[in-house]
Amino acid sequence: MTDQPSLACPLCACTSFQQEESRQDSRWGFTSHRMTLLICESCRYVLHFYDRNSIFDFD
Ligand SMILES: [Zn+2]
Repeated sequence: MTDQPSLACPLCACTSFQQEESRQDSRWGFTSHRMTLLICESCRYVLHFYDRNSIFDFD
């Protein structure tokens, strides 16, 4: 899969991210969305997305 968007960390400009998906979990109150986290592999800065498609808005 090569669908990763070109996204750079706002802190260190690293373009490598670890992607984590946080599925529905009532503890967080996100009952209708699946949250996507992108974690910078350089500085560990975490970007939050409530919908995977929103990642592509950063272009
Ligand atoms: Zn970074």
